[in-house]
Amino acid sequence: MLEDMSATPVRVDAGLCEGHALCIQLAPEVFDLSDDEVASAARTDGQWDQDTWDNVKSAVDACPRQAISLLNTSTKGQ
Ligand code: SF4
Repeated sequence: MLEDMSATPVRVDAGLCEGHALCIQLAPEVFDLSDDEVASAARTDGQWDQDTWDNVKSAVDACPRQAISLLNTSTKGQ
C-alpha cells in the first residue's frame, strides 16, 4: 500500500535535539537550525512532494537522537 504523505507533519523535539545538523544536510528545504543550535522543522504542513518526503524520511533515520517525529494525523496512531 502506498504511504499517504499528503498529511504528515513533522516535528523536532527540542529537548532531544543536539544540533548535529544531519537533518539539515539531508533535507535543507524542511529543517533549520536556530542560533542556539536546535533544529526545527521549517515546514510542518506535511505537504511533501516525493523527493522531499524521501529526504524527510532519511533525516528521521539519520537523527542520532531520534528527535524527529512524523505525525500521522490521518491514519494510524503512531
Ligand atoms: S539530526 Fe536530530 S539531533 Fe541533529 S540537528 Fe537534526 S533533529 Fe537535531
